[in-house]
Amino acid sequence: MDQAVYVVTDNIAAAGGASECALAGRGEAAGRQTEEWSAAKRWNPFNSYKLVAHVERWKHIRRGRPLPPPALVTVDPANVCNFNCVWCNAEYIRQHRNASLSEKTLLDLADFLPVWGRGRFSGHFGVGAICVAGGGEPLLNKATAAFVDKVVAGGIDVGMVTNGSLIYDCMDALSQCTWIGVSVDAGSAAVFNSLKGFGRDSGMFDKVINNMALLTDYARSRHARLGLPHPAYGVSYKFLLHKDNIGEIFAAARLAKEIGCKNIHFRPAGTPWDKMGTDDEIVFSRDDIALFQEQIALARELDCENFSVYGVTHKFSGQFEKSNDFCACHALFMTAVIAPPSGQDKDAFTLGLCCDRRGDAKLELLADSADVREIESAWGGPKHWRMHDSINIAAECPRCTYQPHNQIYEQVILNDSMTYKFI
Ligand code: SF4
Repeated sequence: MDQAVYVVTDNIAAAGGASECALAGRGEAAGRQTEEWSAAKRWNPFNSYKLVAHVERWKHIRRGRPLPPPALVTVDPANVCNFNCVWCNAEYIRQHRNASLSEKTLLDLADFLPVWGRGRFSGHFGVGAICVAGGGEPLLNKATAAFVDKVVAGGIDVGMVTNGSLIYDCMDALSQCTWIGVSVDAGSAAVFNSLKGFGRDSGMFDKVINNMALLTDYARSRHARLGLPHPAYGVSYKFLLHKDNIGEIFAAARLAKEIGCKNIHFRPAGTPWDKMGTDDEIVFSRDDIALFQEQIALARELDCENFSVYGVTHKFSGQFEKSNDFCACHALFMTAVIAPPSGQDKDAFTLGLCCDRRGDAKLELLADSADVREIESAWGGPKHWRMHDSINIAAECPRCTYQPHNQIYEQVILNDSMTYKFI
């Protein structure tokens, strides 16, 4: 009888007893030793094992059967941006769409999302959270604050990823969010300016840092959700790793702590889907990885009761390359991206299925729909399943943000590798 081998590691694919397909690339991933967080902080928002909490919902992913709404929906209010980051994974959609969701559409969505699926599934399979992001800078859309107000009033938790430049005008709406992730990606003005397309004297770094400090104070002084003394709520200093900013990890962590952020979150930049196989692929050298390990060890010394350092690497190989170790894309049934239209109807929207392939028409379930109720009729229908069947992961997909979703679906639900009912 074969004996299963269990490797203690944060990589979900590393548990023995799984299918051969899902374990492709395991050796490289299992060999990585860098800790992503301190042992005391293992119950944190970046720990992908939280996905296991959704297996009862995802057990309903069956062809020809009603499909529960996603637990989390991403809404991109704008495909425009006032920054120009060197690694921008939304460059394609910014160039080809360059549009925003109208106020009418955002408010229609705010009415629809809290009731999506009601009547077909029990309430706990509804949409629980919205990530307001881009595809661009969400706060460039003047209706984003009203959208946040309305969905929060509808009982949905909201998080937002922003470049931080426009926070000041939306303090009240932002303070109602569970978290605000500000993509700073640097620890100094010089590196910030060079990576984000600004001139030396732009002053933008100081503006962003000041906005973050003001937001933390505002939320705390008003006892708003964002300012609660909760380890996982609050302002997060986001730091996308790139060969030219790795040396600033420690400086950024120190600054994040000083201005009242709850955490700093490091993650390697990845090659966008439209740049795969081109000279613009993002790669990291061995020296880059060694510097990352040195800097993250220094940064981790700042970790304390009120401030956390997260170096999230479990979705990547040891060389920060893609690690799409699963057989098929099931995540297309677990999340959705509602984004601006491609055509001229200003009240239309697009329903995409993957945040890593924004703008790829192959993964747009609805293109230029003007009725939010169409989301419910298209979701889980024949076109949705055809899209699932047609994905060629190896050839078409960049590093998959939803790698843990796919692995958990295959290992926990399809293979029952954890015998999860035996608790
Ligand atoms: S990157 Fe590919 S595998 Fe991952 S969710 Fe998107 S379409 Fe699916």
